[in-house]
Amino acid sequence: MSVNYAAGLSPYADKGVCGLPESFDSKDELREKVEALAQLIRNSQYLVVHSGAGISTSSGIPDFRGPKGVWTMEERGESPHFDTTFEEARPSLTHMALLGLQRAGHLKYLISQNVDGLHVRSGFPRDLLSELHGNMFVEECEKCGRQYVRDKVIGVMGLKPTGKYCEEVRGRGLRACRGKLISTILDWEDALPDKDLNRAEDASRRADLALTLGTSLQIKPSGDLPLVTKRKGGKVVIINLQPTKHDKHAHLRINGYVDEVMSQLMGLLGLAIPKWEGPTICESSAPDLKPLPAITVKKEVKKGVKKEGKGEGRKRPAEPNMKEEDEETNVVKKERAEAPADEQAKDFQVCTDSILVQTQNREPIRVERHQKEVPYPLIGVQTATQSPTAPRHSQ
Ligand SMILES: [Zn+2]
Repeated sequence: MSVNYAAGLSPYADKGVCGLPESFDSKDELREKVEALAQLIRNSQYLVVHSGAGISTSSGIPDFRGPKGVWTMEERGESPHFDTTFEEARPSLTHMALLGLQRAGHLKYLISQNVDGLHVRSGFPRDLLSELHGNMFVEECEKCGRQYVRDKVIGVMGLKPTGKYCEEVRGRGLRACRGKLISTILDWEDALPDKDLNRAEDASRRADLALTLGTSLQIKPSGDLPLVTKRKGGKVVIINLQPTKHDKHAHLRINGYVDEVMSQLMGLLGLAIPKWEGPTICESSAPDLKPLPAITVKKEVKKGVKKEGKGEGRKRPAEPNMKEEDEETNVVKKERAEAPADEQAKDFQVCTDSILVQTQNREPIRVERHQKEVPYPLIGVQTATQSPTAPRHSQ
């Protein structure tokens, strides 16, 4: 699907200020400002990042109001240029750096106005992410609220039905929910998703540092959330090439490419930027401590590979347990076998429950229910506030 999702929205007159000139800090000025930002992050207890279309332009997805943005071009009677499709777009350095900041314990919550799905596909935990304007890859059950992350764009916008039905089964032997699935993409008149907005507002109130990346902060209420942090005594840092609506509220204003700033920042914080290994979906930031299925535990004990104490047995092995995944996939398949025939006929699409998945001609999406407890790669020296043994997700 074309990345010009804006073309699928209804006509709307007020698109804000488009095409403002970009400005760039000098090399020295930029370095000085990024050092100041690194210090703010080291001192911060609760960092919230607000991301906009500017962080996806290096992934080939045009923004809206930049010099070559969709609406800037539209105002000039020209067509925007697209380098990619949503499915082919790779997360930018900034997307991956944000995942690195989250894993290192600095970034507590991420609020995005982007619909391109790149935060989710980068593996950023969905329970620490509000996508205020929806996600091209996500459809939601209007009956039970269950969301399905697909590997292809949904192709429907404005919260309209997608033609699919919910497969959520609340218990064994029970029938599937069968509620209508709808697109999560907002049109101009649509209200923001309650759950995402509430969580974004809570995080903004808790934050002592709001960092905005690649957004002109013109759209309400998303663009005003950093001001909530400021009203509560926190600081606001703005990184954008064009002026933003709230520049005057910024403690620090950085005029540079977000990828360049994030690259320098991660270096100063002594953090490596995680590598992207294909679309990865992570549902929860909580370490995966769920009990193994009884049958697997039993088998392990029988084999006598390693007898574990009762408490230890509940921990998930560090290595992905394929046996367990196979069993879970079987469960999913079994539930499908019991579902009505029309549902069975459908393509087996990626959803958040199904761990292993399809796809034709493309690498399968990796689905993680929980963030893996892997040692975080650190480069250089540790900062005083971060220790490798400290719990990463304590808040
Ligand atoms: Zn449902």
